Amino acid sequence: MEKYYFDYASTTPADPQVIRAMEPYFFERFGNPSSPHTIGQEAKKALEDARQTVADFLNAQPQEILFTSGGTESNNHATIGQGRARKSQGQHIIVSAIEHHSALRPVESLQKEGFQVSFLPVDRYGWLDPEQVICAVHDKTILIILLHASNEIGTLQDIEAIGRFATERKMAFHVDAVQTVGHLPVDVQKIGCSTLSLSGHKLYGPKGIGALYLRKGTPLTSFLLGGDQEQGRRASTQNVAGAVGLAKAVEICQSQMLEEAKLQRELRDRLIQKISTQIPDAILNGHPTRRLPNNAHFSFPGIDSESLLMSLDLAGICASMGSACTSGVLKASHVLTAIGLSEELAFGSLRLSVGRWTRPDHIDYLSSILPDTIRRLRKTASI
Ligand SMILES: *Cc1c(COP(=O)(O)O)cnc(C)c1O
Repeated sequence: MEKYYFDYASTTPADPQVIRAMEPYFFERFGNPSSPHTIGQEAKKALEDARQTVADFLNAQPQEILFTSGGTESNNHATIGQGRARKSQGQHIIVSAIEHHSALRPVESLQKEGFQVSFLPVDRYGWLDPEQVICAVHDKTILIILLHASNEIGTLQDIEAIGRFATERKMAFHVDAVQTVGHLPVDVQKIGCSTLSLSGHKLYGPKGIGALYLRKGTPLTSFLLGGDQEQGRRASTQNVAGAVGLAKAVEICQSQMLEEAKLQRELRDRLIQKISTQIPDAILNGHPTRRLPNNAHFSFPGIDSESLLMSLDLAGICASMGSACTSGVLKASHVLTAIGLSEELAFGSLRLSVGRWTRPDHIDYLSSILPDTIRRLRKTASI
């Protein structure tokens, strides 16, 4: 059966050009970039070229880019690393309530170490007013953390306003841009952040590679200790093939991003329009206009997302639910709770995300299946 993939926000397939660019680095150019011999130095050259590409894309310097294992590591390193490095200046951290778990969990671990944390609420669209951040700051605030766009509901934040403020007050500002890099323009100078995370597998690159932008002069404690790789900031032999793949993925995004965003917005709007017409009580979550070009997120009253996803999967449609099932217990997503959704609506939500290979007929197929599926599930639920 043909698959209809509506889950680009979870992960993207790799672009074939990315895999072709990576291949030599598993075979004839397999070297360790720390080795002084020719094979090692070839790998080193490829690694540094990849670093330059990623740096250019973000308007950063190559020395400001650390390769990591992905978004999770970048977020852990930036939050814990900047918190600990600035501990003597104050121990107050500000973070939004709707961060990805890979930023929230490390912040909670800092809280256990004695840091004071303000978890800021968002409005019903998932938007955090920069004024609220400014109000929460006091003389012990050392770090502000905010994701650029929500991986769940797609809402985009005004990170530039917060960046200007953080720069003025010389506070660390970490941005999780995993959902935006490669999809929308991200310029670290315009944002004014001290650190920023990105991940390969969210922009048509491979899994297991990401990067952390680290502004020159920013204090950061390391937590992978060992060799002197990545300017002594992140030990472990670099994933050269991964870095080459990430750079290739970035190059492709650089040339296609604006056109792709435009096409995806059209597809997304077509999808939202169809679903809203066919299922009149569907609720669109996230901001009506300030949202990722590829994200549509709905709640359906009287529906259980798990059954919905299973039914859709049987019809070849891959989507995602708003609330995660951890160790058998269904827990309402913290993001959906933060925008004020009831448990019923949180458990009846569906995220549909489009991407590079979504075609208009995929949307048509989805809209030929979804309304009947919802009707059927509601009928069974009411028996
Ligand atoms: C996917 C994602 C991450 C985690 O990235 P990985 O590379 O999978 O570790 C972090 N933040 C956001 C917003 C994400 O969407």
